[in-house]
Amino acid sequence: MPMMAGFRHPATNCLPEMAMPSSGDLKAEVAIIGAGPGGAVTAMLLAEAGCDVLLLEEGPDLPLDSALHFSSDEVAQKYRNGGVTVGIGEAKMAYVEGRCVGGGSEVNRGLYSRAPANVLAAWRRDFLIDGLTDAEMKSHYEACEQVARVSNLPGQAPPLSQRLHEGASRLGWKAEEIPRLVTYQRDAKSGRMIGRKQSMTETFVPRFIQAGGRLLPGARALRLSRYGGQWQVRTRSLENSKSARRFDLMAKTVIVAGGATQTPVLLRRSGITRNIGDNLRFHPMIKVVAAFSEEINPPGQLDPVHQIKQFDPRFSMGCSISSRPLLALALVDHPEHLVEVERNWRHMGIYYVQTTGGRGVVRTLPAFSDAFVRLRYSSEDMRELGEGLQKLGECLFAAGAVALYPGIAGSPVLRSLEDLKRIPVELPKERASLSALHLFSTCPMGENEFRCATDSFGKVRGTDGLYVSDSSLLPGATIVNPQGSVMAIAHRNALRFIEKRAVASGQRY
Ligand SMILES: Cc1cc2nc3c(=O)[nH]c(=O)nc-3n(C[C@H](O)[C@H](O)[C@H](O)COP(=O)(O)OP(=O)(O)OC[C@H]3O[C@@H](n4cnc5c(N)ncnc54)[C@H](O)[C@@H]3O)c2cc1C
Repeated sequence: MPMMAGFRHPATNCLPEMAMPSSGDLKAEVAIIGAGPGGAVTAMLLAEAGCDVLLLEEGPDLPLDSALHFSSDEVAQKYRNGGVTVGIGEAKMAYVEGRCVGGGSEVNRGLYSRAPANVLAAWRRDFLIDGLTDAEMKSHYEACEQVARVSNLPGQAPPLSQRLHEGASRLGWKAEEIPRLVTYQRDAKSGRMIGRKQSMTETFVPRFIQAGGRLLPGARALRLSRYGGQWQVRTRSLENSKSARRFDLMAKTVIVAGGATQTPVLLRRSGITRNIGDNLRFHPMIKVVAAFSEEINPPGQLDPVHQIKQFDPRFSMGCSISSRPLLALALVDHPEHLVEVERNWRHMGIYYVQTTGGRGVVRTLPAFSDAFVRLRYSSEDMRELGEGLQKLGECLFAAGAVALYPGIAGSPVLRSLEDLKRIPVELPKERASLSALHLFSTCPMGENEFRCATDSFGKVRGTDGLYVSDSSLLPGATIVNPQGSVMAIAHRNALRFIEKRAVASGQRY
């Protein structure tokens, strides 16, 4: 495959400042739109099977360590809209998405889980999905775990994590360390263990390029149309604002992998709307900052990894990275206590409750390029979050917390078990600061034609050569961290595509 201007070169792994290809330059057998976990896994498998693949990504192509993890630089470089994306509804909700080669895998914590067998069973039953059994999915999870390795902590958990675990143990609740897509090694200089994330730019993307795949970052697909038996992808280059312009890409097959909000936006803009964007599901999250009398947040500790699983599938609890700026952000509902962060941040940690009840729709608006996300919360959803927050408070007080600052505007600081009664049983929609990191289900797969946007393997209904391969396909909440399932389902569907392609071209498979 000849290299073209603007593509990442396999030998150097870096993108020189070059103009985008001019109109008519671009042709591929398969165009994949979006280089997050779904797109990257699919791209690698197809390129290694000998397909001519072009992987288009709206965001920049940056190394994993181009910015400090969870820093404002990282947010500016690698998040969509600088990290400010808001869903509209009775309760406001901020959601965040990666926008770079590697997508969410570059900015997330890499906490890794396989979808539980009962979740897969419910998806099969409700959406009439062929296969997708626990036994079938095992090989796909394993294959992805071989490329992007999953590890447990090499030693003791960091104090933020230990506190959550101790609190849960004292209450007799189940809490566990969640493995991560991270490899650990000892830093020669400091002697400390450090982790390196197994994000897409560290794993699947280099293998894709090694196999001859072409990566085009800084290019947003705007619209799809059929032209002469092929797909035409109207594209706008964004990498270099001075030369931003439109061009077309022609491909026999298009696989859309823009993530749970952007995939339905592209399909709907292209006039493909059946069951597209109607079934957004997400894990709503509410945070609490806990202050302890001892130091629990020393600089340089490994990321916290424990989660409480006692109340699954209704809600789970965990701990977040608690750097000084993130603590300040988490105290936004308690502005009068922000000074505490300056004085006391090594004694403070951010903890969260996450439920599975979030629902909504994704739509497009004329003359508005972003996704319009409308959310619905029932009283039951807000009660679950309220109960989860109460339980998290119990756990943190059992772990020795002396003050809790819940993410509810106007809430008092809670200083005792008795104070937990001041958390409303049903969280007030207009005052709760909700957020979400895990979004899915906007193009559910399956044979239930009243609910599913694609067939059981990601082929968009009523179209020829058009597929989806990302978190949009997952038909419901994963309950656990979703990236492992996004990758495993992309792996499964890509193998199916390769098999059908081989049969169609008369090759033996
Ligand atoms: C801060 C954060 C923390 C998280 N923590 C975890 C965790 O610890 N564990 C876990 O399992 N999950 C976690 N997640 C969720 C996980 O990252 C996502 O589930 C996963 O990345 C979804 O993969 P995807 O391929 O569906 O989409 P994405 O990762 O969103 O990738 C889609 C890519 O497509 C690109 N794109 C979109 N539209 C277009 C277009 N029109 N043209 C060209 N390119 C386009 C986007 O720029 C993006 O790079 C976290 C997410 C975030 C944001």
